[in-house]
Amino acid sequence: LAKDRGRARYEVFDDDLRGRIERRLDTELALRDAVELDEIETWYQPIVDLQQRTVVATEALARWRRPDRGLVSPGDFIAIAEEVGLIKGIGTTVLGQASRAVTALNGELAVSVNVSPRQFVQDDFGAVVKRALAESGLPPDQLWLELTESAVLEAIDSAARTFQELRALGVRLAIDDFGTGYSSFTHLKAFTVDLLKIDLTFIRDLERSDHDRAIVEGILRLADSLNLDVVAEGIETIGQRDLLTAMGCRYGQGYLFSKPAPTALPDVQFGL
Ligand code: C2E
Ligand code: MG
Ligand code: MG
Ligand code: MG
Repeated sequence: LAKDRGRARYEVFDDDLRGRIERRLDTELALRDAVELDEIETWYQPIVDLQQRTVVATEALARWRRPDRGLVSPGDFIAIAEEVGLIKGIGTTVLGQASRAVTALNGELAVSVNVSPRQFVQDDFGAVVKRALAESGLPPDQLWLELTESAVLEAIDSAARTFQELRALGVRLAIDDFGTGYSSFTHLKAFTVDLLKIDLTFIRDLERSDHDRAIVEGILRLADSLNLDVVAEGIETIGQRDLLTAMGCRYGQGYLFSKPAPTALPDVQFGL
């Protein structure tokens, strides 16, 4: 009897696993054609100046409009795209769309584009960025590139030249999700970046946690002495906004101001 039950459970598990593998293969196959079928869209979320209450930039966030499935979030396809070698095409598509959309606004707004480690270490990434700037007419200092700490880590040996090329182009470099990677300080010493984006996990409990407040204060002090600007991610409450503003954090981003939206400059709510 126990054995029968055991087998039944095993089969349930087996079906579940098979289902997962099938869905994954299905996603991979569909993703292969997504760029060519024009299914990759760029959504945008504003980055605001907390002190001045102005919008300074807009972050480009990829979405996959999958026929019959609706809008797919990056969390459900970026990692797969990286694994199967499709991130280069998707990244270049988002970079192109974002550069054109922000240039069309004819203003001083910057656009911040996420770059995966795989894109960054490709030999011609500097040329890809140069081409996107040339084709759109976006001034280089209005393009921010968000790299993760792991991308910067890989850059130390394999992409030092790309890093120099980007610096020479005059685009601004940011470290995304700052504080979630490792040996951050080593990276800051080896590579010159312009901005740190404090990961939203440090912002979430800011009002309740002395500990998280101390971490954020530490990051702000570090950034200040290295002459880096800081963006706090994931601001959802007025309390978080006020704390960060009082701590002297220059920039912020989060649902409080605007959720990501399909237009380059979504409506921004500064709150009370
Ligand atoms: P990220 O670059 O750290 O972007 C921030 C994510 O947090 C976005 O999710 C954004 O919608 C979400 N977010 C913004 N404000 C809030 C808030 O107040 N509260 C909460 N809970 N979340 C907030 P999204 O759009 O799903 O993107 C997830 C991640 O996917 C991004 O994290 C980025 O790492 C990656 N990604 C998105 N687009 C691209 C892309 O074009 N290329 C690459 N390589 N990665 C991308
Ligand atoms: Mg980002
Ligand atoms: Mg981030
Ligand atoms: Mg993040």
